[in-house]
Amino acid sequence: MPETNIIGEPGQGWAYIGEHLEWERLSLAATYVGNARTALDDTIEYTKDRTQFGRRLSSFQVLKHRMAERETEVNAARLLVYSAATKLARGERALKDVSMAKVYAADVAYRCAFDGMQALGGYAQLPEYDMERYFREAKHAMVGGGTNEIQRSIIAKEMGL
Ligand SMILES: Cc1cc2nc3c(=O)[nH]c(=O)nc-3n(C[C@H](O)[C@H](O)[C@H](O)COP(=O)(O)OP(=O)(O)OC[C@H]3O[C@@H](n4cnc5c(N)ncnc54)[C@H](O)[C@@H]3O)c2cc1C
Repeated sequence: MPETNIIGEPGQGWAYIGEHLEWERLSLAATYVGNARTALDDTIEYTKDRTQFGRRLSSFQVLKHRMAERETEVNAARLLVYSAATKLARGERALKDVSMAKVYAADVAYRCAFDGMQALGGYAQLPEYDMERYFREAKHAMVGGGTNEIQRSIIAKEMGL
């Protein structure tokens, strides 16, 4: 390859990819917040509609509390994404913030889909409902773009551990 085709400084390829990875991971984290929100919204809608033992599923306290926890987590994940995005947009160092947003949003998307699978009971297994797809997608969130374990290792390293 002619030297005139070289883009950037030789030997700096990983540093260039690293910069791109932060934006990729932040974009992924934002989509996981959307996945989590959609799984939770579908769960809320289904439990308000479905009646068992003469009551709406959404009236059972165990389900209400579970959905309230997930609601709190979805909002927390969104704020982590906003916080990391604000730092990146300002050109500040955001490696830890991006990894925290990604790993947390992935875990929340998984918990929303996991609880959704339980709340929909047998219907969750059917492709007519989207929940089993959300569940598969949430597992991918924990692997694609750098696994949850790698994100936690980045966070720990940034903490000086
Ligand atoms: C649908 C899909 C789309 C993808 N798209 C892309 C893409 O567009 N571009 C791209 O570059 N890659 C892509 N990937 C690859 C993805 O980034 C890798 O699958 C991911 O980085 C994990 O690598 P691996 O599959 O080799 O698993 P491994 O590295 O073998 O990891 C297996 C398990 O061991 C754990 N592990 C490995 N090393 C450590 C360690 N040091 N400490 C702790 N735990 C560890 C991992 O966290 C994981 O749980 C895609 C993957 C999938 C499934």
